Amino acid sequence: NKIMDQPHALLVASPGLGHLIPILELGNRLSSVLNIHVTILAVTSGSSSPTETEAIRAAAARTACEIRELPSVDIDNLVEPDATVATKIVVKMRAMKSRVRDAVESMKRKPTVMIVDFFGTGLMSVADDVGLTAKYVYDPSHAWFLAVMVYLPVLDTVVEGEYVDIKEPLKIPGCKPVGRKELMETMLDRSDQQYKECVRVGLEVPMSDGVLVNTWEELQGNTLAAFREDGELNRIMKVPVYPIGPIVRTSEHVEKLNSIFEWLDKQGERSVVYVCLGSGGTLTFEQTVELAWDLELSGQRFVWVLRRPASYLGVSSSDDDQVITSLPEGFLDRTCGVGLVVTQWAPQVEILSHRSIGGFLSHCGWSSVLESLTKGVPIVAWPLYAEQWMNATLLTEEIGVAVRTSELPSEKVIGREEVASLVRKIVAEEDEEGQKIRTKAEEVRVSSERAWSQGGSSYNSLFEWAKRCYLVS
Ligand code: UDP
Repeated sequence: NKIMDQPHALLVASPGLGHLIPILELGNRLSSVLNIHVTILAVTSGSSSPTETEAIRAAAARTACEIRELPSVDIDNLVEPDATVATKIVVKMRAMKSRVRDAVESMKRKPTVMIVDFFGTGLMSVADDVGLTAKYVYDPSHAWFLAVMVYLPVLDTVVEGEYVDIKEPLKIPGCKPVGRKELMETMLDRSDQQYKECVRVGLEVPMSDGVLVNTWEELQGNTLAAFREDGELNRIMKVPVYPIGPIVRTSEHVEKLNSIFEWLDKQGERSVVYVCLGSGGTLTFEQTVELAWDLELSGQRFVWVLRRPASYLGVSSSDDDQVITSLPEGFLDRTCGVGLVVTQWAPQVEILSHRSIGGFLSHCGWSSVLESLTKGVPIVAWPLYAEQWMNATLLTEEIGVAVRTSELPSEKVIGREEVASLVRKIVAEEDEEGQKIRTKAEEVRVSSERAWSQGGSSYNSLFEWAKRCYLVS
């Protein structure tokens, strides 16, 4: 299939590197596979932070997509002073309508379609205003999450009281029910503005012309079928859902002398657990200390990407090396040779690709999950925020590539030795359950590759989408 007269897709990224990266990866895929011209409108936080601008420039240098920065409007009078980050971003994106419209109208080459993420659904009417052919939503997470998002407006009308008080799991048509331990962070307090914004997004998604979702047929066949086949989920969604995943960053050349790889090269095959709980510092000081003991007790080899603990006031965010002081006394000496602590931004994809990595202790952000699954690395799930508790259940109970910690979303405490035994389970050779998980992880890796090979499910799905919006023959 070839596309005539190179079409032009406009992708809108909400503020924050965590939102730009998935949009950027999608843009790279659209331009490399479909030969589409891609413009990314990167909405910045508005505070003209040099790191934000730097990160966008660095991203622009490595992509075929054209990236334009669009400073966001001031929304102080639209949100409560203590509004959550998610609320601020959704409200900000909604308030950007006229700026985005002006930006599109000033483009010499007009886009054909617009793609927004969940934070940008309030901007979809701009596509109609400026006469684009279609507007799509990109869900960088998985299909079960998408189902819960579009079903949330229904739950909102039928469920009384707080979701955290539910006795029975919430039934989601065509999907696994959502129990107390899977509630998304936005569902924990229904009086919070971020919950109301979330319901609104759930109502807006079906007003698009379709949704691209970062999963694949063989990973979530049942949920994807529920979107397609006649039934409640299909009736609510109304528009087609295109599974086009896994879309993840591919490994790049990293400095050969990087000490992490020098160390990994010396370790045995699949003997090391990689520990990284997201891009920001999300563990408390107490959790950081516990985790250190856990890793030491596990006796397993490790690479730990240590971020500044959220509640540790003794260290300023610019002083990365100082986070070492948050570790228990003598930890580095006792684990010398067994583990490596990294305080800088780690080359995660490249680390997960290394033959000595045998497991990933992860907070289960969906990008991290996909980066692990595409390398066949089993996961110890330690969900911390957003929809990560759902992700942990999906990985453990449906896909079978992970073990998880036992805490509930609102508690986030974890007992000593718990992580240690989970880590041993997935990395240690002799454990039977661990062996089963490792085998499954390898099967998922193969299926992820197949989905994106020519004629594979995601490859076909992307062409089906292109055919619909660009009339490719
Ligand atoms: N990441 C990285 N190095 C680090 C920490 C994170 O490369 O030291 C990357 C990781 O590979 C992933 C992203 O940051 O692509 C984190 O995204 P995810 O959705 O997993 O979690 P978030 O941090 O957004 O909650």
